[in-house]
Order: sequence, then C-alpha cells, then structure tokens
Amino acid sequence: MVERQREVERPLALDEDELVACVACGLCLPHCPTYRVTGLEVASPRGRIAAMRAVELDGAPMDEAFRDAMEACVQCLGCEAACPSGVAFGHLMEGTRQALHRAPMPPKSRLGAATGRARRSGEWVAYVVVLPRHGVLLALTWVAWLAQRLRLVPRRFGLPRLTRASLRTPLDADADPDAFLFTGCVMDAWQRDVHRAALRVLRATGARVGLPGPGGACCGALHLHAGRIKEARRLARRVIRSMPADGDVVVDSAGCGAAMKDYGRLLDTDEARAFSARVFDFSEWVVAQPALELHTTDQVVVIQDPCHLRHVQHADRAVHTVLAMAYECRDTDDDGLCCGAGGAYSLWQPALARRIRDRKVAAIRAAAPGKNAPVVASANPGCAMHLGGGGLDVRHPAELLADRLSNDTMPSDTMKGPRDRA
Ligand code: SF4
Ligand code: SF4
Repeated sequence: MVERQREVERPLALDEDELVACVACGLCLPHCPTYRVTGLEVASPRGRIAAMRAVELDGAPMDEAFRDAMEACVQCLGCEAACPSGVAFGHLMEGTRQALHRAPMPPKSRLGAATGRARRSGEWVAYVVVLPRHGVLLALTWVAWLAQRLRLVPRRFGLPRLTRASLRTPLDADADPDAFLFTGCVMDAWQRDVHRAALRVLRATGARVGLPGPGGACCGALHLHAGRIKEARRLARRVIRSMPADGDVVVDSAGCGAAMKDYGRLLDTDEARAFSARVFDFSEWVVAQPALELHTTDQVVVIQDPCHLRHVQHADRAVHTVLAMAYECRDTDDDGLCCGAGGAYSLWQPALARRIRDRKVAAIRAAAPGKNAPVVASANPGCAMHLGGGGLDVRHPAELLADRLSNDTMPSDTMKGPRDRA
C-alpha cells in the first residue's frame, strides 16, 4: 500500500537507489553523442539524471524542457558503459520514457497542441497498427517500392533498395530446426536479403534453421524505446510463443537481439528468462560453430559497433572475429560512439541525428582513408539505414560472410574455420 502510494506520488516511479547513484563526476560526458554535438549539460547523461531527480524528488514540473531533454537522448547507453559508479541509466530512461508516454503533451509544447496531437496519432498508427501487423507493414512496403521506382524517395532517407523479387519470395524454413532465425518486422520487409545471407551462413555450419511462427514478427524493441511498455510486453509474449521448443534463437538485428535478451526482466517469468537464454546475436552464434569455411580476401572493411551490440549485448567482438576470418578489418578510433540511429530517433530528432552521424561518418572514413568510401559492416538495420543515408556503403556481417563462403566458383585460397581465429 505504502509502495503504491509512493508510485502515485512520484511522477516517474523510478527506483530511488538507481536515481541517486550518480555522483555527478562527468566521466560519462565524452561518451554521450548528444553532449558531444551540443556541448550542453542538459543534453548530457549527468544533466538528464539531474532533471529526472528534480521531477521525481523535488517536485519540478514534467514540462516541455524536461520532455525535450529526455526525447533528445538516443538511448545508446554509452554513458552506462562508461560510468564507474554503475548508474543504471537505461532503467532510468526507460521509466522516464514510460512516464512521458502516459503523460499528456505539455499545454505549451513547442509543437503546439494540434501538432502534438498529430504526432501522437502518427505514433499510434506506427506502433499499434503497423509494426505489430506484419501484413500491413508489407503492404506499405509495396507502396514504398513503387515510390522508389518513381524516384520519390530521396537517398538521404536511407531506405534500402527494395526489389520486387525479394518482396515476393518468402524465406524458406527447414523442418526439425536446430535453431531459429528471428526475422522481425521492418527488417523482414526492407532487408529480407540480409536474412537470406544469414540463412546461407547458418546452413553452411550444418544447422537446420527454422523461422518464427505466426505472430512472431515484431520484438517490441521500438516500443520499449518509446516507453510503450505494455505493448512491448504483449509483443514479447507473442515472440516467445512463435519459437517453441529449445533451439537457439539467432538474431541478425542488434536492437532486436538486445530487447529479446532482456525479455526475462521485461516479463519477469521463468518462461521469458528461459527464452532470453536461447537468444544469440548472429555473429555471436556463428563464432561458436566449428564448421564454417571461408575464402579470404584483402578487401578492407570498417566495422561499426551498434550500441545495442556493444553496450547492451556485449557481443561486438564476435563481429570482429567472424569478419576477420575473411576480410581485413578496421576499427574506428571513436571508442564506439553512437551513430545517431537509435530506433526511431532519426525520425523524431532528424537534426541531432544528422549531426551525430556526421561525426561517425568522419570516424569511419578516417579508419580507411582513400578516395573511395570504405565498405562498412553494421550488425544493426537501423544503423545501416542511417549510415547509408549519410552516403556510406553499409553491409551486414551476414552478407559479407555469405559472399566469402567457399564454393566452386571462388578461387581456392586460404580457408579458415571460426575456431582457428577466435
Ligand atoms: S552517470 Fe556515472 S559517469 Fe555520469 S556523472 Fe553520473 S556517476 Fe559520473
Ligand atoms: S543514453 Fe546515450 S544519448 Fe542518452 S545520455 Fe546516455 S550517452 Fe547520452
């Protein structure tokens, strides 16, 4: 009863211990992309935590400035990874976004009342109508395909080139699978060829690969980002039901994989915890297999570490290990700073997202200087689209590996298995 009263009194319902853990040392500041591009305290992790405390503990209003500061956060968790005090910034921001989602738009919103309502309606259509209903998303993708053919979609939007052949051809599943490939919502609609490449690589290890059953299209990661926790929970339950038995669940989207590895905490059930333990990022799974053979090349690939792979899943090194089996790999020297994609962040915060991306593009180009833009490997579809919109040639590690699978048409140069390099 007392606990419930506290929740009612406290607008954000955050864990107080987590909220007061920040000692304001500022060591996270260089790892925060929004602080790096603005130089503003309010756009830093320390400033955001101070604003959360003011609202939660000191009665400050949840006003327009507060909403702006929170919504400008990419939720990359670079700050959490860098914090020596172990501040759980992700939990704090998740709770705050949940409270903002429940709260009405401030009456003096810079968007204005009408625009605020239009944005709420747009979000409702995206999160409630389109993403959870894969048929609707695929139908809209055909519209996007037509718009691309009519040259109505500027390249800076980063939409991958959609093809009729890919959209018309479903992925094929094996009977009695050893593992599942999670196909997702947006990725299945817009980047199905990445799944085809992933299936080729997974099968080259000798695995039989299944696909999610009905209802298992959307993992809820974008909903979580937006503070729509109830909807995220409903989608998580559907995803768990769609891949029964005990085969590994391989995920070739870093953002989806991070969300699915967290289902145990999100749903707080034994079933969800058992499911999360079955989830692996694509490269993380491949690197543990003994049977993959690849042809090597001296082609340079610059690796972009998606934040959800590096700071949340801590599986970023697996990408380096699998790609180094076939390519000359380069890292950027920016300590994994975010690219600015962040779920739907680049849609809602386009100016900031572009400024953050500019820094990332410069770091990628510096890693492989030359007159041509380097090939970039990214394990997250959102990052790939965002960086593609910045003029880079971005490919998924699965595509790069599938290109180098040993077969009769390739020169018979050195072949290595993952275990030889891991
Ligand atoms: S979040 Fe961590 S690193 Fe950042 S100011 Fe607070 S204690 Fe320091
Ligand atoms: S999650 Fe990323 S953008 Fe948000 S405060 Fe932390 S470092 Fe900055």
